[in-house]
Amino acid sequence: MTPTGLSMDVSTTAKRTVLVSGASIAGPALAYWLSRSGFAVTVVEKASTLRDGGYPIDIRGTATEVVRRMGILPQLHDTHIHSHRCTFLNPDGSELAVLSPDAVVGSVKGQDLEVRRGDLGAILYALVRGDVEFLFNDSIDTLDQSVHKAEVTFHSGQQRTFDLVIGADGLHSHTRGALFGPEAQFHRYLGYCFAIFTMPNTFGLSRELMMWNAPGQAAALYAVGADNELHAFLNFHQPEPPVDALRDPDAQRDLVATAFAGAGWEVPGMVAAMRDADDLFFDTAGQIHLPRWSSGRVALVGDAAYAPSFLTGQGSSLALVGAYMLAHALATNPDHTAAFAAYERDVREFVAMNQALVANGAATLFPTTMRALEQRNTILRGLTTMPSATARPAHSALTLPEFASMP
Ligand SMILES: Cc1cc2nc3c(=O)[nH]c(=O)nc-3n(C[C@H](O)[C@H](O)[C@H](O)COP(=O)(O)OP(=O)(O)OC[C@H]3O[C@@H](n4cnc5c(N)ncnc54)[C@H](O)[C@@H]3O)c2cc1C
Repeated sequence: MTPTGLSMDVSTTAKRTVLVSGASIAGPALAYWLSRSGFAVTVVEKASTLRDGGYPIDIRGTATEVVRRMGILPQLHDTHIHSHRCTFLNPDGSELAVLSPDAVVGSVKGQDLEVRRGDLGAILYALVRGDVEFLFNDSIDTLDQSVHKAEVTFHSGQQRTFDLVIGADGLHSHTRGALFGPEAQFHRYLGYCFAIFTMPNTFGLSRELMMWNAPGQAAALYAVGADNELHAFLNFHQPEPPVDALRDPDAQRDLVATAFAGAGWEVPGMVAAMRDADDLFFDTAGQIHLPRWSSGRVALVGDAAYAPSFLTGQGSSLALVGAYMLAHALATNPDHTAAFAAYERDVREFVAMNQALVANGAATLFPTTMRALEQRNTILRGLTTMPSATARPAHSALTLPEFASMP
């Protein structure tokens, strides 16, 4: 630990102090419930500001009850994306099937929400920023636990002491690495890489998704509003994870371009737009499976602990529910060890059910062989005659406990 920077001992304050690493979805949601329960919360975020962008995310089942209890359901309804159709295309670009978006992802119309990821992050941040300390452009460098405290040295050099530290720092969580070691042990690679970026809407699309598939390749264009921007998505099968490319944006662009060389439909234009995009988000599709979600005074929440992958569409819902349950456990158990055990006991099955949805998502959206693609296409043609899908039981498989009245 470096001796530079401010050292602040918070042990004299009456409130229990918590440092949360990551200000995306899980972090601010946890901060809200902890702060409301009488904890003094600090959130540290590596980026210099809230990170916008990404594909729209879904809030479903139990997670909609979490946001209702947070009082932000009306705002989320206002930002809900009312997509009216999802068009699937054949490898040659011809139309295969036009479906209700709900039928594709198993959302319940009028109940579940789909919002821009940035909108959800901004609403959560606005809700808590007055009660919670935010440290942007900083991160945890070292974390030393003793029986009584967790001592943190930040990248900025500042040193502080907290009662508890929670990692809400996503799929590639630094906190998880500090607790349990390298990610490779816990990352279950699902065989796909994806690139997400925005590009101009030169196609006249409005509140709709176009999805093109060839074996092992998928390209999607999503117009979430009537504005001039399209969310572009390129996903391809890659047997082994491209470890070196994960830290090199130029290598990522080359990898995607090579994977889609010779592809049909509008894919060449999308690849060209990806080359120019300044908001490219590239990653592997993967899940995190950990034997434990805490060690000592440190615990994990959201993708850091149990990323389900975008193939389930449940990442944000698990983050919201996990944050609620972790805060509830800490609010009701003065002993953090008992609280972390209760959090894990009560949430594990819900996580497992939602992570298991991955096979469904992969088979529906990203078949890797011609035979699998033909089988998927036969199902899709049949779905056009069906009404919207009913909710997946996993989405609502956890009943939330009530928080006691506030101190
Ligand atoms: C910019 C961005 C775009 C995304 N796009 C998509 C998408 O298109 N589709 C999809 O399914 N999911 C996407 N995700 C992931 C999605 O947000 C999560 O699956 C889900 O919402 C769970 O959220 P989370 O808060 O647990 O993790 P995340 O949303 O991944 O948030 C983690 C946060 O921790 C911060 N962080 C990381 N490392 C550190 C560190 N060392 N110190 C401090 N802070 C740190 C990150 O900057 C980020 O703000 C995206 C995430 C981000 C950050």
